[in-house]
Amino acid sequence: MNKHLEQLVKLSTFDKDIVNFDPKIKNEEEKLKSFTQVVTKLTENVEKLYVIIDDAKNKRIKNDIHLKELSDKLEEIAGKHKLAKNEKEVKALQLEEEIAKEQVNFANEEITRLDSLAAVKTEELDTIKAELAEEEESVKELKEAIDKNIAELEKSKNSVYEEKSVLVSTVDSKVLSFYEKIKRWAHESAVVPVKKQACYGCHMKLNDRFYSEFSASNEIMTCPHCGRIIYKENEPSA
Ligand SMILES: [Zn+2]
Repeated sequence: MNKHLEQLVKLSTFDKDIVNFDPKIKNEEEKLKSFTQVVTKLTENVEKLYVIIDDAKNKRIKNDIHLKELSDKLEEIAGKHKLAKNEKEVKALQLEEEIAKEQVNFANEEITRLDSLAAVKTEELDTIKAELAEEEESVKELKEAIDKNIAELEKSKNSVYEEKSVLVSTVDSKVLSFYEKIKRWAHESAVVPVKKQACYGCHMKLNDRFYSEFSASNEIMTCPHCGRIIYKENEPSA
């Protein structure tokens, strides 16, 4: 094979390899993301539960205060009972007492409800906190593994870059700029093999006349259909 063409085939392989590293690196990052999303969600749930528990506790305190007020009031009513002068006053006091007792019942029911709500949510909170701790631990482990994978991928990518730059320094500048121009639109398929008389870039068949010319030639040739640089598949490229 033409020496320049041989270099371009190699160069194109390096460019392809370099591009292929990015999705691999991204894939590693995505892996971690799915785990950190679980951690974020659990953290949000923990925060929500704290709010609910705090709210229940605050309401319970308010009910306690209210109960104390009601008990004072009932004492006051009892005191007034002794001083009642007639039936009408007694009845009015009885009504007042009834209302206060109803309020006491209601406050006690509220307290029971709030206490059991706080208990249930506290239990839920403990479960989620344990889950969160476990998840955080696995994220930590996973992150270490992923960071290592990424570092290795970056290292390999850099060594391909290095190999590429060594090669680039030996490629004839005209040949290189010819390749770069095609690469601008063809990207990683700027240099493609011909297989079964077809260009492997655009998959169009090369006509017999062109194909025999191409087969006999030792020059850099481009596909007449797409303009990519083509080389003979059977010949080893390195
Ligand atoms: Zn083509």
